[in-house]
Amino acid sequence: MRVKYLQCVRCGRKYPREEIRYRCDCGDSIELVYDYSAYKGKVTWDILRQRTFCHWRYREFYPPLKSSGIITMHEGGTALIRSRNIAKDIGCGDLMFKMESLNPTGSFKDRGSTIEISQAYEYGAKTIVCASTGNMGASVAAYCGRGNIKCTIYVPEDTPRIKLLQMEAHGARVVRVKGDYTLAANLAKKEYEEKGVYLAGDYPYRSEGEKSVALEIMDVLDGDLDYLVVPMGNGTLLHGMWKGIKEMKLFGLIDRLPKILGVQAEGCNTIVRSYFENKDSIEPVHPDTRMDAIACGDPLDGLWALRALKESGGRGILVSDVDAQCAKEMLAREEGIFAEISGAASLAGFIKVHNAGLIPEDARVVVLVTGHGLKEPEFFETRI
Ligand SMILES: *Cc1c(COP(=O)(O)O)cnc(C)c1O
Repeated sequence: MRVKYLQCVRCGRKYPREEIRYRCDCGDSIELVYDYSAYKGKVTWDILRQRTFCHWRYREFYPPLKSSGIITMHEGGTALIRSRNIAKDIGCGDLMFKMESLNPTGSFKDRGSTIEISQAYEYGAKTIVCASTGNMGASVAAYCGRGNIKCTIYVPEDTPRIKLLQMEAHGARVVRVKGDYTLAANLAKKEYEEKGVYLAGDYPYRSEGEKSVALEIMDVLDGDLDYLVVPMGNGTLLHGMWKGIKEMKLFGLIDRLPKILGVQAEGCNTIVRSYFENKDSIEPVHPDTRMDAIACGDPLDGLWALRALKESGGRGILVSDVDAQCAKEMLAREEGIFAEISGAASLAGFIKVHNAGLIPEDARVVVLVTGHGLKEPEFFETRI
């Protein structure tokens, strides 16, 4: 879709669409605002469903890219599978899992990478720098490898070994920082500012790509969904999904909106805390959780995610490491699904609010499984 301008979540300041911009001058995050009028009535199910079921089926929803430069590995098109046993255990009538672990590098990050790294390629970037808790780096490294672009990934000290191996296998230079994700993000930004390299990560182009998780779910269910359960790190995924769902409604593809349940770790509760305190700002924290993929103490898209929870009539949920580990084990034993612990946080969160009686019995629910369990085998060696 044609981009009209970029706009800040906090101060509303607008920037011209030509500008490669990561954050607003006020420091908060920005999103792409499209010129929707040109597309109304032209994006129909008939048109979309003629195409293969994958991320690129929904190309009208993304920023314009020259097709010759698109770096893709058939991301998306992931399965939506029905619960066989957990739904019965907890007494939920209609529970499904969206298998984001089935993407090319094992997490939904690939949906953002195909947009973001293609954009960088079109821009002529020779080197990309990026901060990551692990999955982002693995994905960016793979897409950079495919696009012949050099990349440097800054990661926290305790990033799981397999995710580091993935990055190195794809040819990335990996820098382990002595600290958490926030420090990694600051160092990546510093390298971008000093050397003028292309900065990748949780920025506007990525959330445009990650919205396809929601587009696929709404496509398969014909828009008939009550709750969508999403883990939150930087909040980029949740924000992107909510934006995509609203755009589908604007185009008349669906006629109602699901409620979004956003799940964070108790030891990294930034967005959910503001949700419960009814604030419109986010206080950074020092993360203390084993859910490494969602341990973002200063969430870049926190405000967007917070607003999506409120706008959708959903809620924020906190889970402990033990809750998430239990959910991970339930998924593995009862459903045959091997998720990484952050990818099981969503199920843990849903069970919590379901047990508290907050979900109607006949609700249709989709829980995201965001990342693959093969990425963290050490979890079964050192149990919580
Ligand atoms: C990145 C990631 C998340 C969180 O996504 P955000 O966009 O940072 O909110 C959740 N689960 C897994 C497995 C991830 O890799």
